[in-house]
Amino acid sequence: MQQYSQQAKKILKQYYGYDGFREGQEELVTSILSGRDTFGIMPTGAGKSICYQLPALMLSGITIVISPLISLMKDQVQALNQMGVYAAYLNSSLTMNQYFKALEFAKTGKYKIIYVAPERLLTDSFLEFAMQAEISMVSIDEVHCVSQWGQDFRPSYLKIIDFINALPKRPIISAFTATATKEVKEDVIQLLGLEQPTVVTTGFDRTNLYFEVKHPGNKYEEIRKYLEEHPNTSGVIYCNTRKNVEEVCDLLIRDGYGATRYHAGLSDWEREKNQDDFIYDVKPIMVATNAFGMGIDKSNVRFVIHYNMPKNMESYYQEAGRAGRDGEKAECILLYSGQDVVTNQYFIDHARENEELSGEALELVISRDRERLKKMTFYCFTNDCLRDYMLRYFGEYKDTYCGNCSNCLTEFVDVDVTKAARAIVGAIDAAGERYGISVIIDAVRGSKAQKVLKFHLDENPYYNTAAEYTIPRLRQIANHMMLTNYIYLTDEEYPVAKIAEAGVDFLADEEAVVMMKFPKEERKVSAAKKQKSKKAELEGDVDAGLFEQLRSLRYEIAKEKKVPPYLIFSDKSLADMCRRMPKTKEEMLEVNGVGEVKYNHYGEQFMQLITSYE
Ligand code: ADP
Ligand code: ZN
Repeated sequence: MQQYSQQAKKILKQYYGYDGFREGQEELVTSILSGRDTFGIMPTGAGKSICYQLPALMLSGITIVISPLISLMKDQVQALNQMGVYAAYLNSSLTMNQYFKALEFAKTGKYKIIYVAPERLLTDSFLEFAMQAEISMVSIDEVHCVSQWGQDFRPSYLKIIDFINALPKRPIISAFTATATKEVKEDVIQLLGLEQPTVVTTGFDRTNLYFEVKHPGNKYEEIRKYLEEHPNTSGVIYCNTRKNVEEVCDLLIRDGYGATRYHAGLSDWEREKNQDDFIYDVKPIMVATNAFGMGIDKSNVRFVIHYNMPKNMESYYQEAGRAGRDGEKAECILLYSGQDVVTNQYFIDHARENEELSGEALELVISRDRERLKKMTFYCFTNDCLRDYMLRYFGEYKDTYCGNCSNCLTEFVDVDVTKAARAIVGAIDAAGERYGISVIIDAVRGSKAQKVLKFHLDENPYYNTAAEYTIPRLRQIANHMMLTNYIYLTDEEYPVAKIAEAGVDFLADEEAVVMMKFPKEERKVSAAKKQKSKKAELEGDVDAGLFEQLRSLRYEIAKEKKVPPYLIFSDKSLADMCRRMPKTKEEMLEVNGVGEVKYNHYGEQFMQLITSYE
């Protein structure tokens, strides 16, 4: 193990320019190098690629990497080529001609790493190549796709095992995913036939990410304000519908921001162009549906704003996790509105109508999704640490205070909400636990809405007993009462509000009081933020002037070489250059992310700029 580890570290420095491994990487790499099947479960951005690329460089034969995403392959291969590693991809984005040419090269042993789409594996041409090649490892990325319990099940993943079995010699198998549930884990091991694999699960906490939830009246205004306070940063704004993407993107363009869009309604051509514009920093702001992002490794994404609440915590954490992949500070902000819950509910109930699932199986999936939506909604209403809430959801227990989320940075005051609580619980009870929460809230506010009258809720003894509260405030209180088990919603297409355990006690005890935390008007966070925005967004004392110049230089080189700027050097590397001001080769190689090959390509130019800057 020791010898593998030292060799691996040398290559890590030489090719990638990194000084050390991150959590889990060393264990995964050495396990592979010692010839064992290996299974890594790490959150997005944790650094899975290195775990199979490094061993691939060290093993004697070829590594086949199976990945579901064309954009990911292209990106990874480009990154490898930049580092001086011969790699290629084989997928449907190549013409017939290109494909066969690449295969020819592969046969001559030119490539150390070959990315391939799962559908290709069992084609005659690929099999013919694979049968005569020395394949040391088959590595499977996004391996949760093999499981029907995973979020993006892909039947073609089930064929991987047939491919492996067809090979003359069984290679090492390594598999990676960010989905950590028990069912997915078991499926992966079983369906891929992993033999006594080393399984490494790393922590899901991404400490460099700041989390915040807002309930703004005007979401677009909120975004505009944010961008004004954070000029020259790159980020993603996720919306839940194509229509919202179009609207938000149009408004941003109108207001002079470099924004582009991505959703399934655009042509392939336009999607690809917009994605490139974003990746190459031509348009630093991407407005997109959740169709965007899987496999995009843009390391300098400084913010991910959710214009709408996603349908579950898995999606949220994955999408938000695209921020700050370089390990530098980044912000994840969710803009909540009640309508988001309704929209998601609709998606859940209608999304699967066209699929093969039916009957009980369909019911099961829907009810599981509804439960997930509930947990997501609670995230938007909790006053406790957001990070803690999220990590608990993924089964990890840490501190209840992180100091880097909007709740930890907000001062709360305790408010007595007994009156509203009595009205809500009382009205539900008196109405026989038959109606949804919205109409109950309308009733306690004394509304004459059609539904209220139709259900005779105007005759309910609690009608109009909480008129002084606004609807959003009553919603907050109702959500709090769900979180604390006073009431609950049934698991149906139109959920009905019912009394839960604490609610029964509450009804029986006239003296009982309900307290709730609300943020104080002046939030600590805004003061802290104001201070921060004066400095560069990046950590430490980075000279903003030099940083900008280095960025421009990187942009020029990127344009000339036609590769994304972050593949030249990441923001983190540029920031590190600002701190270290390297003037010799040795000093330059000390910089985070500067390896031999990159030094040879770009080192001089950057050093020259640094020297002339002083
Ligand atoms: P994942 O596939 O787990 O989402 P990636 O493999 O794309 O993550 O890695 C995320 C980022 O972290 C990349 O920019 C990568 O170069 C960087 N990275 C990975 N390992 C290290 C390391 N040991 N030191 C510094 N940066 C690293
Ligand atoms: Zn926190």
